[in-house]
Amino acid sequence: MAKSNPIPYRALLLDLDGTLIDIDMEMFIPAYIQLLAHSFSGHCTTEDFAGHLLGSTRVMIENNEPRTTNQTAFFDDFCRRLDQPYAHVYPIFERFYELQFCRLQSFSRPRPHARCLVNTARRFGLKLALATNPLFPLAAVAHRLRWGDLTTDLFDLITTVENSHYCKPRPEYYLEIAGKLGVSPEECLMAGNDVLEDLCAAAAGMDTFLVEGMILNQTKGEPECTYRGSLEELANLIAGEYCDLKKR
Ligand SMILES: [Mg+2]
Repeated sequence: MAKSNPIPYRALLLDLDGTLIDIDMEMFIPAYIQLLAHSFSGHCTTEDFAGHLLGSTRVMIENNEPRTTNQTAFFDDFCRRLDQPYAHVYPIFERFYELQFCRLQSFSRPRPHARCLVNTARRFGLKLALATNPLFPLAAVAHRLRWGDLTTDLFDLITTVENSHYCKPRPEYYLEIAGKLGVSPEECLMAGNDVLEDLCAAAAGMDTFLVEGMILNQTKGEPECTYRGSLEELANLIAGEYCDLKKR
């Protein structure tokens, strides 16, 4: 039986990288591209592969066709670049995430209080979305959750390349989550470490919590957010036990 909810939210959206897990993306992304490029060494050089991957990722982020999933937007462009059919390219990615992606765990560590925060949100009956930028398939998100001592079954929704039609920082990304959770954006609190990509949930009507410790895209001056603090303070806010965390 969930405890009665002391805050005016029905759903909590949590970013993953730099929020629930400690990961240095500046180290991780080049290592990820390098490792994935090995799987495509029969098709192109590492340098060309990196260009194709980043180019198709850009096309996916900019896709604004509401019925096209991120996965479709990505592979339509990527297969064209490689001049290979989807039926050949997709299984290469699938095998990579199944067998190779786990080798990147060394770039990541669990974050203290992440599990406690998730448990607190569930205890207070909040709907819980893992609002990680949906550039990766579920298999890759599940690996990263495990690196943080978390599991997919803790979340009511996980945004992935397969099930999402928009990426951060588009407001439509956040509206799609609220719609799937069956709540209004005003009933959502979005927490993340990225000033640009996570706090823009405000443009969709959500309140925001800037998670400190690994803040990205810091702008000059104070970032505009509803709250800011640690994961522990966010857990306390949800439990209604943190009086000093003023709404800004
Ligand atoms: Mg992040």
